Amino acid sequence: GAGDVHAEVVVLGSGPGGYTAAFRAADLGKKVVLIEKDNNLGGVCLNVGCIPSKALLHAAKVITESEEMGDHGITFDTPNVDLDKLRGWKDSVVKQLTGGLGGLAKGRKVQVVTGFGTFTGPNMIEVNDNGKRSTVSFDQCIIAAGSEPVTLPFIPHDDERVIDSTGALELKDIPKRMLVLGGGIIGLEMATVYDALGTDVTIVELMDQIIPGADKDIVKPLHNRIKSRYEDIKLKTKVTAVEAREDGLKVTFEDDKGEVTTDVFDKLLVSVGRRPNGAKINAGAAGVAVDERGFIAVDGQQRTGQAHIFAIGDVVGQPMLAHKAVHEGKVAAEVAAGHKRHFDARVIPSVAYTDPEVAWVGVTENQAKAEGIKVGKGSFPWAASGRSLSLGRSEGITKLIFDHETDRVIGAGIVGPNAGDLIAEVALAIEMGSDATDLGHTIHPHPTLSETVNFAAEMFEGTITDLM
Ligand code: FAD
Repeated sequence: GAGDVHAEVVVLGSGPGGYTAAFRAADLGKKVVLIEKDNNLGGVCLNVGCIPSKALLHAAKVITESEEMGDHGITFDTPNVDLDKLRGWKDSVVKQLTGGLGGLAKGRKVQVVTGFGTFTGPNMIEVNDNGKRSTVSFDQCIIAAGSEPVTLPFIPHDDERVIDSTGALELKDIPKRMLVLGGGIIGLEMATVYDALGTDVTIVELMDQIIPGADKDIVKPLHNRIKSRYEDIKLKTKVTAVEAREDGLKVTFEDDKGEVTTDVFDKLLVSVGRRPNGAKINAGAAGVAVDERGFIAVDGQQRTGQAHIFAIGDVVGQPMLAHKAVHEGKVAAEVAAGHKRHFDARVIPSVAYTDPEVAWVGVTENQAKAEGIKVGKGSFPWAASGRSLSLGRSEGITKLIFDHETDRVIGAGIVGPNAGDLIAEVALAIEMGSDATDLGHTIHPHPTLSETVNFAAEMFEGTITDLM
């Protein structure tokens, strides 16, 4: 048919993994087709993930900081929230970025084909655009189909008061009382936004701490701060039933002692994780194996079991993060273009853009304990950082984890404002094989939060002992 095309490299999905792979392959001289079911490029991250959430978190930060300046002699009136305008601004940030991607694709002659792609053979994808079918035949393929929010069978997901992260970012209204089901990064970021806008937030989490992937000491300052702002944080508690009633959503909780309670909320945000889209693309027709959860296994060059078909991003496994997808996208595109490359990153940083931010990279203390890795640590409390105190904040911690034998830095946990930016230095230090002396002898600008990395290394070495 008229819409049938051939690609040297076809990329299925235009999220951060997919667009990066498509652009890189095109820059390396390949004829590239990029298939995307949605009208906008950019995937979850740009449209309903990283970017809109950060725009709203910025608004939240302005509100909470202005509230807190009251203690330092500057008071403002209660903010007047124009929800339509705030939503419009958030949408304009997204539009600027997704529109930019369209231009970048054009500039590289990457052909964008709109529609839902499924494999029909080892070198063929059929694209369905609202019933209009076309085909893309290919020499090589990069699967970048991403992930979607997990739903729970006992929750009425068809009730408009039950939302996922996409619904939360739509910002339809500011509910009076909201339950956030799942105390992971995405749930806590959305909680930060709605709390600032005036919602009474309750968090419920099955594990014994929020953000279960990070060390408890690093999460504690966040926990303490939101405990005083939110209505409740329920740990070691599961939701066993949700009943949609006229007066609200009646939620049944059960804690670890078997005690059952109920409460009624205006909104329920379900943020219990994401599941990969691997099972939806008929990968079997191309001979690509998909496991029972929907993940596609790959080797160190991002190749699936079929040597000419690669997979990257959320669809290949944890951590489901944009910067991991981007890195894998570059690896896959370069290998597809005949370059020598493999995935050799030592570490992938994780960040919760809450207030305070929580960031960690490499080996955590929990992991060291569980795996019997002998480590040393240097921990610097931000109460002794002039820059932190001058921000009106003292709860932060910078903790570095060192290999016991070599003193090389192998991990870090940072909590405090801008922890997400600070963790990048430690990621580089780990990649470079830096030891405590390297970090301790590097001159950091004063007064900055970045000094806390330098001080934590000196704490480990024992060159700083008396803090205050
Ligand atoms: P995706 O971004 O999921 O993109 C996949 C694309 O493929 C989509 O556009 C989809 O429409 C398309 N597609 C799928 N199947 C088909 C098909 N068969 N045919 C055609 N098109 C198809 N990560 C961070 O690193 N930092 C953050 O701050 C952050 N914040 C987040 C906040 C929220 C609320 C959410 C939900 C996620 C956040 N993430 C964040 C995670 C991040 O969005 C993902 O890790 C990232 O988007 C994964 O990229 P990807 O390329 O693998 O796939």
